[in-house]
Amino acid sequence: MNQKYALGIDIGGTNTEFGLVDNKGNIELEGSIKTSNYESPTELVKEIAHQVLAFSSISDIIGIGIGAPNGNYYNGAIEFAPNLPWNGFIELAKIFETEFGVKATLTNDANAAAMGEKLFGATKNINDFVSITLGTGFGSGIVINNKIVYGHDGFAGEYGHIIVIPQGRECGCGRKGCLEAYVSSTGVVRSIQELKSKNKLNSKIFKIENPTAKNVFDFAKNGDTFCAEIVDYTAMVLGESLANFTCFSSPKAYVLFGGIAQSGVYFAIKVKNYMEKVQLNIYQNKVDIIVSDLHDKNAAILGSSSLAWKCK
Ligand SMILES: [Zn+2]
Repeated sequence: MNQKYALGIDIGGTNTEFGLVDNKGNIELEGSIKTSNYESPTELVKEIAHQVLAFSSISDIIGIGIGAPNGNYYNGAIEFAPNLPWNGFIELAKIFETEFGVKATLTNDANAAAMGEKLFGATKNINDFVSITLGTGFGSGIVINNKIVYGHDGFAGEYGHIIVIPQGRECGCGRKGCLEAYVSSTGVVRSIQELKSKNKLNSKIFKIENPTAKNVFDFAKNGDTFCAEIVDYTAMVLGESLANFTCFSSPKAYVLFGGIAQSGVYFAIKVKNYMEKVQLNIYQNKVDIIVSDLHDKNAAILGSSSLAWKCK
């Protein structure tokens, strides 16, 4: 019998990544195309089909999983995603189904990441967890009783937009003080200017043109006091807000994934300490902060492919 695959697709504002994934999480074929090169989603889907079917026959593909910004699990549509080249309401799952003739399932990219953790990653044996993607923004996928929480309309899990500091920093969503404006790579970069500290004068970060969050974390690890303060502040804002979240669903773990999380346990330990400091007593020392062990490059494909494996 031929090897069976799920086709995992991650639609991003810049690139669309895709891959054929077996049921153990091995990626056999991987590709990347520029999203904005395609005038319509149908053209993009046709190009993916062209590349995938040069490698595998359609009878070997058990299903398609798609992660996309503003992807709605219930109706299979991308709804008004601000960073994609196509506007409005796009019935993407249907377009894939028409092209490939197999079932396609869509969700937003943060939920796909949570599914990937569950099937192939750090939370295989955990039924209640929250996966947190710290990239340009702050994505979250909430798993309760082994199920992703979608909410009544498919948009649950926008934890990055809870307001942590009233009247605080402006957020991309048009409001002020969201978690994402502090805890994300863009949030860390904003802290370089906005955090007040007497150690600013001696910091190497001001010698760099257009510093990144990675610069801040690298300098912090190498003894730059101001950068260490930024990391500490970021960990505090996240840790305290996670203690709040714990009161809601009592997860066993928060899994950190993405750019900032790649600094590994260094950041996770700080987040854990700040969380424990304000954690309600019945939850104390029961909730873990884990760093994702999915390889960053493939995680999006693994995550979206797991949608198809899960539906199987
Ligand atoms: Zn916001």
